[in-house]
Amino acid sequence: MREQDSGWAAREAREGWWGPLVPRRVKRMAQETTARRVRAGLIPPPCALPCTDCFTEWEPGTPRHHYDHYLGYEDEHWADVEAVCPRCHNRRSRRRGEHR
Ligand SMILES: [Zn+2]
Repeated sequence: MREQDSGWAAREAREGWWGPLVPRRVKRMAQETTARRVRAGLIPPPCALPCTDCFTEWEPGTPRHHYDHYLGYEDEHWADVEAVCPRCHNRRSRRRGEHR
């Protein structure tokens, strides 16, 4: 997965998939909430789930699945997440106009 190491892919891997429209603080809180729910056992880790869009199962050594906040980062939607592979997450965020 060398393409993950440079350019926008690496930036988004560090900062998440949402563009500058969402304040980083809000995005961070939403992601933290999801991470806490995973740790608490309320929802499985995203890599334990097949991609919602393409049904790809995560395998060790491949890019990790993410939880997509598919309804947005408003706090009432923080629990509304779907597990997606990086490829589909990218396609979703592109469709939402979150980058470029
Ligand atoms: Zn996918």
